Amino acid sequence: MTAEVVDVVVIGLGPGGESIAAQLAKAGLSVVGVDARLVGGECPYYACIPTKMMIRAADALAEAHRASELAGSVQIKPDWAPVAARVRDDATANWDDQAAVDRLLASGARFERGWGKITDAGEVTVSTSDGDKVFRVNRGIVLNPGTDPAVPPIEGLADTPLWTNREAVATETVPSSMIVLGGGPVGCEFAQIFSRFGADVTLVQSGPRLLPNDEPESSELLRKVFERDGIRVVTGARATKVEYDGTNFHVQVGDETHTAEQLLVATGRTTDLSALGVKAAGIPDDGKTINVDERMRAADKVWAIGDVAGKGAFTHMSMYEADIAAADILGKDGPVAQYHAVPHATFTDPEVASVGLTQAEAEAQGVNVRVGLTNLPDSSRGYIHKLGNDGLIKLVEDADRGVLVGASAVGPGAGEILGALLVAVHAEVPTSTLKGMILAYPTFHRAIGAALAEL
Ligand SMILES: Cc1cc2nc3c(=O)[nH]c(=O)nc-3n(C[C@H](O)[C@H](O)[C@H](O)COP(=O)(O)OP(=O)(O)OC[C@H]3O[C@@H](n4cnc5c(N)ncnc54)[C@H](O)[C@@H]3O)c2cc1C
Repeated sequence: MTAEVVDVVVIGLGPGGESIAAQLAKAGLSVVGVDARLVGGECPYYACIPTKMMIRAADALAEAHRASELAGSVQIKPDWAPVAARVRDDATANWDDQAAVDRLLASGARFERGWGKITDAGEVTVSTSDGDKVFRVNRGIVLNPGTDPAVPPIEGLADTPLWTNREAVATETVPSSMIVLGGGPVGCEFAQIFSRFGADVTLVQSGPRLLPNDEPESSELLRKVFERDGIRVVTGARATKVEYDGTNFHVQVGDETHTAEQLLVATGRTTDLSALGVKAAGIPDDGKTINVDERMRAADKVWAIGDVAGKGAFTHMSMYEADIAAADILGKDGPVAQYHAVPHATFTDPEVASVGLTQAEAEAQGVNVRVGLTNLPDSSRGYIHKLGNDGLIKLVEDADRGVLVGASAVGPGAGEILGALLVAVHAEVPTSTLKGMILAYPTFHRAIGAALAEL
């Protein structure tokens, strides 16, 4: 088959892939963007945006319950229909990517819907509904395949009508009861959403605590809130067997069997590197991620960005890495990737947000750690806020250098509070300078001052 010569092929159009394809096309390169499913990837159709719309609705219900105590009687009748409609109509246009395809074409890039595979050094074959198309690249190949939900090898599980994030986002109804496997950000967010809409939820986490990538104090606080709100939290126990009887799931966890109408699996993500043909470019295909250097180079004329690069599975990471790789492909002397101040947020209520290293990570790196911690209910704003004021600020300082290397915020709008801490960790602002800041009264972020005073 004759190959068509182009400058760049981008395989996978997640947030980063879409961004880099458009950037390179606008810079004048001939670019082919390839996606087998929806342009934009997981984030707009099955992840960040629809789940945060669901959370917005669930939070509104929680605030209505609080209003009853703070502001007089409120009648609350939860209804999933407006949530499902908003996800279907506003967020995803009924899982139609035409707007994103049009945006990509308007940038000057070409789009091929199909499965892209590296079939030789500098060569990509795309399997489309019109047959295979072969491209040879002048400049390079960008890999942005993202991840698919991983279903663990639990006896009986594979044959059941389980949900992953994709079915959960698309649901038109709320099950009466639900078992959530996985206590990471995805499992925690869904557990709270469906619980607030009336499902009786059991959250099973094989590790010792929820949100294992966050500080133990954050995990502890979230568990306390979940249990207070009626979510059953089971930690340190693995699901070993699943049965579905046509109506209910029965999940064996340790000595107990949990039964629920729906099972949601949120136990991690996976990428099939061999299906991507990376070996043809000299990249090992037996792992889950692709090793990249500080300019996102994975091999000669191959760049990898986003979840598959393994530096953090976040939309902001995919977009950040797209910028780094785009500059390199265009031969610009752009900045290299830095990962000392990577932020992330879990949008539970309270939100759990952090940046940089946890205390344990800093200690493991041999940092002379000093920690400052304060609880939000002890702050003026926490006292005023009253219901829903659960939260904390934790700072991790490198005492030798006098700078923060990590920080966490838990609480209402903690992802926003994190903004100030992100600047401090990213720019390595001296702690002495931070201590001299005037923090507006009575804000939640003013609690940063109390945490600084504990250092
Ligand atoms: C429920 C949930 C909630 C989340 N919430 C947040 C959040 O609030 N904030 C945040 O920052 N992150 C969040 N994330 C993570 C976020 O969705 C991802 O990090 C983000 O989508 C970036 O992924 P990516 O760019 O690597 O690729 P993806 O978004 O995974 O897209 C990859 C694309 O590549 C395509 N593809 C793969 N292989 C091929 C191939 N060989 N040929 C053609 N096409 C291919 C796929 O069809 C897909 O469209 C969430 C994730 C989940 C599951």
